[in-house]
Amino acid sequence: MNIYADGHCDTLKKAFDIKKDLKYSELDFNIKDIELNIPRIQTLAAFVNTCYEDGFKRAKNLVEYYDEIKDETFLIKNVKDIEYVCKNNKLGVILSIENGKAIENDLKNIDWFYEKGIRMMGITWNDDNLIGCSCLTQKDIGLTDFGIEYVKKLESKNIIIDVSHCSEKTFWDTYNNTNKTLVASHSCCFGICSHKRNLKDEQIKAIAKRRGIVGICFANKFLSNNSIVDVNDILKHIDYIINLVGEDYVGLGSDFDGLNDESKLKDICNVSKVQVIEETLIKNGYSQDTIDKIMGKNWIRVFSENLEE
Ligand SMILES: [Zn+2]
Repeated sequence: MNIYADGHCDTLKKAFDIKKDLKYSELDFNIKDIELNIPRIQTLAAFVNTCYEDGFKRAKNLVEYYDEIKDETFLIKNVKDIEYVCKNNKLGVILSIENGKAIENDLKNIDWFYEKGIRMMGITWNDDNLIGCSCLTQKDIGLTDFGIEYVKKLESKNIIIDVSHCSEKTFWDTYNNTNKTLVASHSCCFGICSHKRNLKDEQIKAIAKRRGIVGICFANKFLSNNSIVDVNDILKHIDYIINLVGEDYVGLGSDFDGLNDESKLKDICNVSKVQVIEETLIKNGYSQDTIDKIMGKNWIRVFSENLEE
């Protein structure tokens, strides 16, 4: 049976800021627009914009808000939970952190997040932080000493390390300071669209070598330099990764509720439209086995290989 999985959205932040729950249909990701007969795993990120002085407080607010609005979603903390969600057609949630600023200067905050169910954490957002340099940095010095400790602590807790938004040197410093799987939860390919947020070929190969995944982001400015962008551009990035490293290392990283109207794809504006990707893959002659991997099974493999039993 087909299972959808998505590596990143900012719905938690948006819902918290406008004080709505997951049934609110104006959210790109919302429970009303999902066919619950398709089991699905959605990563909900607690996104901490660097403008917040106390990043931990902001992240804590978002993570605690999930408890208030979790509704019929099921929080996945381990491999058994994934199996439960898939077998029982549940809407599974993986909680993640976008921007390591969420811990401020205290590695012990990682323990708090882990206790609350966080199973994936990023390093930077678009600004440099205490951990390392971002994709938009002016001077790329990579991970700081504190950043190396951060990576080692995530490794020791079996928290999946997310390299989306990292600078190139931060990426390679992370790669060289852990043997663990790395994921890019919502990124695209620099070989197609030369945006600083996108991954160079060597980075994609390194992610595949560690059995990680690239979740293709639905932001038109990362997908193409052209003015008209649509689902076919998502397919180009999927194809590019398949040609580079094979079909096991690419999935979806929607960034729902993290994109403004200008950055959104018109044909995949919210979660009800995700099957347009599957339909387009079918039209383009992909086998059902490959489609299942892209739409969900690759992410599920990564979660299953990296979370605790
Ligand atoms: Zn992002």
